[in-house]
Parts: sequence; structure tokens; C-alpha cells
Amino acid sequence: MVADQLRARGIRDDRVLAAMEAVPRDAFVEAPDRAEAYADKPLPIGAGQTISQPYIVARMTELLGVRPGDRILDVGTGSGYQAAILAELGCEVTSIDREPQLAEQARDRLERLGYADRVTVIVGDGSVGNAALAPWDGIVVAAAAPSVPASLRAQLADGGRLVIPVGDRRNQELLVIQRRGDGFVQHSDGACVFVPLIGAEGWSE
Ligand code: SAM
Repeated sequence: MVADQLRARGIRDDRVLAAMEAVPRDAFVEAPDRAEAYADKPLPIGAGQTISQPYIVARMTELLGVRPGDRILDVGTGSGYQAAILAELGCEVTSIDREPQLAEQARDRLERLGYADRVTVIVGDGSVGNAALAPWDGIVVAAAAPSVPASLRAQLADGGRLVIPVGDRRNQELLVIQRRGDGFVQHSDGACVFVPLIGAEGWSE
């Protein structure tokens, strides 16, 4: 997976590659899909949701540009895989999902794998972030919004980055937004396809 899907397609950050190698992706998928855990595709995780393709997890992590000790908000816990990758990189992660069943499973899994000291999983609407715990050194969103949620932007620390897919329900662009003092700089990393971000600053159900 790391050689053929990540390094070969341009993931350059050695720390991200090492984290992708260290976290056992097979522990984050359901038993019938274990044989395909390292395949180049998203897989179902229940509640109509998916664990993202390995490449997109690596790319979003690389774009986030984290350092050990960073406080990161991970919106869309899903299986907990992205949160584990960030924890492996030394981040202090708050991960939020609107589906209680997925959050509970991810919490158990992350605890079993030894990440509980660096990841807190909560249930709620991540489209509005978490103002009580802000500012965040980085925010990564694994579900697509119709526009950049103002709350997420506002909760970035100076220099912090927001990585989020934005577009319509079928096609989106992966945006990287960085706070620079009172302003923001933004660029697109290209096309992507995600499940919808459902919430107050996302899509309605
Ligand atoms: N990062 C996950 C992983 O590593 O397995 C994959 C996330 S999955 C593609 C998208 C997730 O976003 C789903 O679990 C879904 O329940 C969640 N989601 C959608 N809208 C949300 C919202 N407003 N707040 C929090 N989570 C949300």
C-alpha cells in the first residue's frame, strides 16, 4: 500500500508514510472486508459510511502539515483510522462524528490499539467545529460541505490549516485553507468525492 499507492503517487512526507505503515488498517474495517483492507479504495464501515481510500487519508494528512503536539480536530471519525494516523504523528486529536454507533466503535478500537491517550472521540455536529476547545492547529474534514463552514475557519489558530472537500453532492475540490493573522490563504488540491457533511454548516439531511 505505502509503496504502490502512496509513494508512487507522490506522497513525499516520510513521517506521513511511516504513520501509514505503522497503523494496522485491517483493524479499522469490518471482518468480511479484512482481506481488502489495504486495497486502493474506500470500504464500508456501517451506518452507510466508508473508511476513505488510503491515498486520500495520506494526502489530507500531508496537506494538514502537522507537528508533534499539535491539537487537531478530526471531523468525521468514521472508523477512527484518520485519527489513529494523526495520533501516530504525535498529535493530540479530538475526533467528532454525528453517528453515535460509529463513534462508539471507533472509541473502542482506538483504545484497543493504544491510541486512547492521544484521541478523544465525541458525538456531535462537526460542521460547526468545537468552539469550546478551539483554537485548533489543524482541522481535517472527511465529509463534503457545500461551502467552507465559517465556524471551522474561525476556530483555526494562527498558521493553522483546514483541509476540507467542498462542492456539490457528487463532486468536490479538496481545499486547503490556512489562517495568516486576520486573513486566510486558500488553494485547491484537486478533485475528490466524499460523502456529505450533514449539519448546521453542511448539508441538510
Ligand atoms: N475519517 C474516517 C475514517 O478514517 O474512517 C472516514 C470518514 S467517513 C468518509 C465520513 C464520516 O463523516 C462519517 O462517519 C459520517 O457519519 C461523518 N459525518 C457526516 N457529517 C458529519 C458532521 N456534521 N459531523 C461529524 N461527522 C459527520
